[in-house]
Amino acid sequence: MNIHEYQAKEILRRYGVAVPGGQVAFTPEEAEKIAKEMGGEVFVVKAQIHAGGRGKGGGVKLAKSPAEVRQLAEKMLGMQLVTHQTGPEGKTVHRVLVAAGVDIARELYLGIVLDRAVSKLVIMASTEGGVEIEKVAAETPEKIVKEYIEPEVGMQPFQARRIAFALGLEGAQIKHATKFILALYRAFVDTDASLAEINPLVVTPSGEVLALDAKIGFDDNALYRHPDIAEMRDTNEEDPLEVRASEHHLNYIKLDGNVGCMVNGAGLAMATMDIIKLAGGMPANFLDVGGGANVETVRNGFEIILSDPNVKAVLVNIFGGIVRCDRVANGIIEAAQSIDIKVPMVIRLEGTNAEEARVLLKNSGMNFDVASSLAEAAQKVVALI
Ligand code: GDP
Ligand code: MN
Repeated sequence: MNIHEYQAKEILRRYGVAVPGGQVAFTPEEAEKIAKEMGGEVFVVKAQIHAGGRGKGGGVKLAKSPAEVRQLAEKMLGMQLVTHQTGPEGKTVHRVLVAAGVDIARELYLGIVLDRAVSKLVIMASTEGGVEIEKVAAETPEKIVKEYIEPEVGMQPFQARRIAFALGLEGAQIKHATKFILALYRAFVDTDASLAEINPLVVTPSGEVLALDAKIGFDDNALYRHPDIAEMRDTNEEDPLEVRASEHHLNYIKLDGNVGCMVNGAGLAMATMDIIKLAGGMPANFLDVGGGANVETVRNGFEIILSDPNVKAVLVNIFGGIVRCDRVANGIIEAAQSIDIKVPMVIRLEGTNAEEARVLLKNSGMNFDVASSLAEAAQKVVALI
């Protein structure tokens, strides 16, 4: 799960990570009030959407007075913000962060991610902050320094200092940066984060080290341990079909193709997408209905798949290991009878009671195309489109 910048900064503040002052506003009036109460000469109004590149897209603006903050918030709230991460349709801005303006001497990059290949957290830092780190990684990878954390001992102060030196920091900046990096690491581990990115990490003319921007992503499977973080979820930022699927505990990810997929098991679902591509088609979604597929899950799955207007045919691929195929077949028949399915459907079932299931589907009086192998199913569904 991802959260907004202002929420990430709230969490970081709790752990003693240095963050500029600021608060979220939902209306221009609130924005002006926050600026007035905060005081100061310069303010920043920042669109809160779950995408980067806001600066270039017009979602980060400086203001010289609370009145100007209000004007900027008026323009930003409700706007469709397009950045290189939102896609061409952009994202609607529903909230803005009003923050204290900061003088910038240097813009650096700091990130923490889990490196699954070595089963360790890795701290990444670069002097090339404020720009796309993907570009730095591709063009000048030597400008990214990495520090791997041994999980059984955790991050050590010397590692934080090593990063501070690599960033070319001097004097008191080193002390501030070391404190910052260790606090960020503590926040990351404590909250079961899966990614934290501070871009830019800024050094001010007086030598302070601050998080000017903050992005944090969390491990969904650990959210039950953090009800306060789970509450920060903003479903406006998620695909509506994915939100509906998560309400039904279905594992659904929308894709760009036109073959709807309903599969039990994540591995089988990925193999199904592969074989659809191999047959020359494009999957419209990933959907794992889970091991215990019943009428209810099958119906919810169909409803979600068919809500995607791109779907021109559906491929159902079920392996009866934990569930029996005949039960799934009955579920498919019942679900298909209760909703109006206008696109052709190819079904492949294998495993326990597969033969009984095929007979049930063939005798159902419904227009199912029953395939006897996965390859055949994929070819059939692509041909139907
Ligand atoms: P992003 O474009 O979505 O990553 O948004 P950021 O929060 O990183 O802001 C983009 C850029 O705006 C930063 O790299 C800074 O150059 C600039 N910026 C943001 N906040 C301030 C501020 O308080 N003062 C100044 N001078 N520039 C800022
Ligand atoms: Mn940024």
